[in-house]
Amino acid sequence: MSVTQNKRVLISGAGPVGLIAAYRLAREGVPVTVFEKEDRLLDDPRAATTHPATLEMLSELDLVDDMARLGLICREFRFWDRPTGDLVANFDHELLADETDFPYVIQCEQFKLASLVYERLLAFNHVDILFEHSVIDLTQDENYVTATVSNPDGEYFCTGAYLIGADGGRSAVRKSAEIAFEGFTYPERFVVFTTPFDFQSGGDYCYRNYFADPDEWSNLFKVSGDGPPGLWRAVFPTGIDESDDDVANESAAQERMQKFFPKTGGYNIVHTNIYVTHQRVAESFAKGRVFLAGDSAHVNNPIGGLGLNCGIHDAMNLTEKLLRVWKGEADLGEMVRYDIQRRTTNHEFVQAQTIQNKKRLEAKDPLARAQNLKELSEIASDPARAKKFLLRSSLIASVRRAETLG
Ligand SMILES: Cc1cc2nc3c(=O)[nH]c(=O)nc-3n(C[C@H](O)[C@H](O)[C@H](O)COP(=O)(O)OP(=O)(O)OC[C@H]3O[C@@H](n4cnc5c(N)ncnc54)[C@H](O)[C@@H]3O)c2cc1C
Repeated sequence: MSVTQNKRVLISGAGPVGLIAAYRLAREGVPVTVFEKEDRLLDDPRAATTHPATLEMLSELDLVDDMARLGLICREFRFWDRPTGDLVANFDHELLADETDFPYVIQCEQFKLASLVYERLLAFNHVDILFEHSVIDLTQDENYVTATVSNPDGEYFCTGAYLIGADGGRSAVRKSAEIAFEGFTYPERFVVFTTPFDFQSGGDYCYRNYFADPDEWSNLFKVSGDGPPGLWRAVFPTGIDESDDDVANESAAQERMQKFFPKTGGYNIVHTNIYVTHQRVAESFAKGRVFLAGDSAHVNNPIGGLGLNCGIHDAMNLTEKLLRVWKGEADLGEMVRYDIQRRTTNHEFVQAQTIQNKKRLEAKDPLARAQNLKELSEIASDPARAKKFLLRSSLIASVRRAETLG
C-alpha cells in the first residue's frame, strides 16, 4: 500500500516534542500525520522542569495555565553540600522578573504536557495520530519524502512534503537519514526513585535541589503526581559495575535512600527507573526535507532539566520556519537556519551546562570541590552574577543567542 499527500507534514514520534510540533502546525491549517511506535503515549517519569524561556513559548500555544494547574510553580533551586548538609547556594528566579513574564519554573511531568497537547490535537480533522505505527525507513527527492511505516498489518509507504524525526534518542529517522550522533555515553547509569515521602518535613528543601558529593551526588525534585501531597524524585548515579537488579532491588533501593536521607521506617518507593545517559548531538538537524527535533537531535544528562526544554525550543524554532516554507513565503534553504540556530545553541548551552553541572556535583578532588562550592555560593549571593547565571540556566540566554545566528 502507498499513501501520498503532497502537502502533508509527517512526524515520527508522539512524545512531547512531536506533539508540540504537530500542534503548532495544525493550528495554522497544515495537515499532519504523527506516527507513534507504541500503542499509547509514553508515561514514564522523565522531564518535569519547564524553564522560563520554554514557558514563554508554550504560552504562545496557550498551554501554560493548564500546566500550572497540573504542576507546581517553583521559584527557587538550591545547591547543597551533601556530606555536611550545608546549603551552598539558593537561586531565585524572581531576579528575572524584568526579563520574562515567567520568573519561575513549572514542575509539570512530561506525560501531562504530552496528554494536554494530544487532547487538543484530537479537535483537528486535518491531523492523524497513528499508534502502533513505526517509521522504519525513509527516502526523499526534491519534492517529497517517503516514510516506510510498519504497523501490526504489515508495512506501507507514506509520502508527504516534509518529515520531522521526533522519535527519541534512538531515532529511526536520524539513522535512516544517515546523520551521525556524535558524543559520548557515561559509564554509569542514572537511577530515579520516586516516593511520596515529604522531604520538606525534615529539611529546608525547595522543589529542586542539587547535592554535591564526591561519593554519590544526587538531585531531589518534587512533582505534583496525582495531586497533593505530590511525589518526590531522588536521582543518583549507579556504580559502573552495578547491574539493574543490584540497583533496583528493594533492599538496595532502601539502603540508598536511607543513606541519602535517614528516616524511621522504610521508604514507599512507587517507581524505580534506570537510564543510560549520553551527551550527543546530531551532526545536522536538517537534511533536505527531513528535520530532527528533541532527543532524536540531542541527548544530555538530566542535571539542570534541559533536554525536553531544548526539544520544545527545537519544535518551536523548526515549525516557525517550516510554516513559512509550507506557505511559500520562504524556500527550503530557510531550514538551514533551523539547523545552525538549534545545533549551535545545543552545544553552547545544553551540552556545556549539563556536562558542567555533573562535574560540579561529582568533583572528587577536595580543592576543586571546595572551589566549585565557593564559586556557586559567591554567584548566588551577588544579584548581578546570580541573574546572569539564571539567564543561562533558564535558557533565556540561549534563545537570545539563537536569534543572532544564521
Ligand atoms: C530522569 C530524567 C529526567 C529528566 N528531566 C528533565 C527535565 O526536568 N527537564 C527537561 O527538559 N528534560 C528532562 N529530561 C529529558 C527528557 O525526558 C527528554 O529530553 C524528552 O523525553 C524528549 O522528548 P522527545 O519527544 O524528543 O522524545 P521522547 O519523549 O523519547 O518521545 C519519542 C517518541 O517517539 C516514539 N518512537 C520512537 N521510535 C519511533 C519510530 N521509529 N516510529 C514512531 N515512533 C517512534 C517513542 O515511542 C516516543 O513516544 C529528563 C530525562 C530523564 C531520563
